Amino acid sequence: MSDDETVEEYLFKIVIIGDSAVGKSNLLSRFARNEFNAHSKATIGVEFQTQSVEIDGKEVKAQIWDTAGQERFRAVTSAYYRGAFGALLVYDISRRATFDNVARWLDELNSHSDTTVAKMLVGNKCDLENTREVSLDEGKSLAESEGLFFIETSALDSTNVGTAFEIVIREIYNNVS
Ligand code: GDP
Ligand code: MG
Repeated sequence: MSDDETVEEYLFKIVIIGDSAVGKSNLLSRFARNEFNAHSKATIGVEFQTQSVEIDGKEVKAQIWDTAGQERFRAVTSAYYRGAFGALLVYDISRRATFDNVARWLDELNSHSDTTVAKMLVGNKCDLENTREVSLDEGKSLAESEGLFFIETSALDSTNVGTAFEIVIREIYNNVS
């Protein structure tokens, strides 16, 4: 078989960033394995998980990276960001400080990327409506002013988790194809 007969394959690296305990690991486990862990402490071992999505009849694989808890010490390395085509910037809608830190995460992401990165601002834990500290509109307007996609999710009850990843994967696909 000659080269031009091989089936096109897509593999995109996506990173998840944001303050500690905003739900990054649970968003990934909900998306990749439909699992939620109420007592997850530090993230255990795994560097990334691969998940396939079908776009325009093609299999697109996302290699989604989760910090191994380094964000606690502001020690996310440049190797983590290297080669990423997409990013989820996550905050916790019930903790304003995590929203205030989004700008810092965005700076860090931008300073490490040398290509177009599809970015989604994610307000996680939208199930915690009665302890909400960041309104939907605040999230929306930050995303608008920074040119990010925006969505609120709950890894706990699954709201919008698949959609958040799928929008990013589709945008990357559109950027490269
Ligand atoms: P990470 O440090 O950003 O990876 O955050 P984790 O995924 O480890 O989650 C931190 C804590 O928040 C854990 O106790 C989770 O069970 C909890 N958590 C994660 N996502 C949600 C969510 O959508 N809703 C609620 N209520 N709790 C969540
Ligand atoms: Mg984690």
